[in-house]
Amino acid sequence: MTGRPITILQLYPRDMNIYGDFGNTLVIKRRLEWYGYEVNLTAYNLGDEFPTDADIIVGGGGQDSGQLKIQADLLKIGPALIELADDNVPMLMICGLYQLFGKFFKTANGEVIQGIGLLDIETHGKSERLIGNIITASQQFGNIIGYENHSGQTYLGTGVKPLGKVILGAGNNLEDDTEGAIYKNVIGSYLHGSLLPKNPKIADFLIEKAVTRKYGAFYSEVIGDSFVEPARRVASKRPR
Ligand code: GLN
Repeated sequence: MTGRPITILQLYPRDMNIYGDFGNTLVIKRRLEWYGYEVNLTAYNLGDEFPTDADIIVGGGGQDSGQLKIQADLLKIGPALIELADDNVPMLMICGLYQLFGKFFKTANGEVIQGIGLLDIETHGKSERLIGNIITASQQFGNIIGYENHSGQTYLGTGVKPLGKVILGAGNNLEDDTEGAIYKNVIGSYLHGSLLPKNPKIADFLIEKAVTRKYGAFYSEVIGDSFVEPARRVASKRPR
């Protein structure tokens, strides 16, 4: 299968990339290579020309200041991102970009950062930061293990489904035990860590969607994931 390219686009790595979020991109890249695909790793930063050839789009978290910095630019590329999402392009957005894929993030200081409204969610900053190890349960992906650190509390509308149900930690907010959101092939989540090294089923979901969309079918080789289980075991025993 060599010679079959897949393009991963990382959104705003200069301003939105904390707690190891770039590791998500590296996991998708390496697994695609193990599956025999050729990977083009591309980045979109403030002011760049938005590329039209992305097969998978990944974004990370950031401080409120980073979110304010990219806001206007993100709103400019928002319609293109929505078009790609509706065309089933898989995307993974963590924390700060998860929030801004929604309708808005009203920070704890009262500033309203507009989002692109791709996800039917809204986020309200609170004085208490939600910090610590987190485990959620998902029917599709099993237990999802990671680390969260956010002031924003996110509430889901009817246009999205939660990604998981919180077992340990806070997740979207302190009220409804949900974590993350999923719409078409777009996943939003508060989980840093990075997320994908300990949760490769989510990486394979994104890969399968991208490959199927581009080449019609995805035949997965079995990857020796024996190193994942011990990492998951250790991480899930950590206290909050
Ligand atoms: N600044 C946002 C918040 O505090 C996002 C934080 C993050 O990406 N970790 O909620």
